[in-house]
Amino acid sequence: MNEPKYKRVVLKLSGEALAGDEKFGINPPVIQEIVEEIKEVHDLGIEMAIIVGGGNIWRGQIGAQMGMERAQADYMGMLATVMNALALQDALENIDVPTRVQTSIEMRQIAEPYIRRKAERHLEKGRIVIFAGGTGNPYFSTDTTAALRAAEVNADVILMAKNNVDGVYSADPKLDENAVKYEELTHLDVIAKGLQVMDSTASSLSMDNDIPLVVFNLNETGNIKRVVLGENIGTTVRG
Ligand code: UDP
Repeated sequence: MNEPKYKRVVLKLSGEALAGDEKFGINPPVIQEIVEEIKEVHDLGIEMAIIVGGGNIWRGQIGAQMGMERAQADYMGMLATVMNALALQDALENIDVPTRVQTSIEMRQIAEPYIRRKAERHLEKGRIVIFAGGTGNPYFSTDTTAALRAAEVNADVILMAKNNVDGVYSADPKLDENAVKYEELTHLDVIAKGLQVMDSTASSLSMDNDIPLVVFNLNETGNIKRVVLGENIGTTVRG
């Protein structure tokens, strides 16, 4: 079997990935499928941190559009990510994968506070660290959190798991039949072309810190493992 291409990875899961077809809320059978794939990667000896979004429960921008103060609505979004993180932790521990949740906003009764050195120690010991609460700041996203934490823990790559999209396209393939899929891009291409990969803050941070991304379809079974074994699927974005 191939040797893994990466030693330490950050996996970004959107909130919607945990919701299944309903696109809202938390769907334990869907999470079960995801954690089984994560376990396969963990069993290869790869160190993994997971950043989970919250869009299946709440998005700050939506609250703001409905008249809420943006920062207040964003804090609600950060709390949504914590619920998702706890659901993931529960499912991973059910299949005997050791995990720790670290939150950027302190919630000591349910998770550790984010401490970079401790997170690295957990990773070295083979525990999956789930980073919850985003960056802890309003006006940011969990994509930016992925770029930030990847830089902080010296991850080799960010695995951007997408729902039902197998990479980055020149246009929305559902709307434009001439849309072409890119195999490789630079972060600058993503920013300059306004491609839907991550928000521009997350792209800039990844570019400035030279962190590669692989964008791939989470809904195809086995894809997380394919990516870490270096199979050429999805789109790779480099510095
Ligand atoms: N959020 C935030 N700061 C962060 C990360 C997240 O304010 O550092 C809030 C923001 O309101 C966002 C929500 O949390 O809409 C959910 O995160 P995100 O939209 O990134 O989740 P995803 O789209 O990945 O499910």
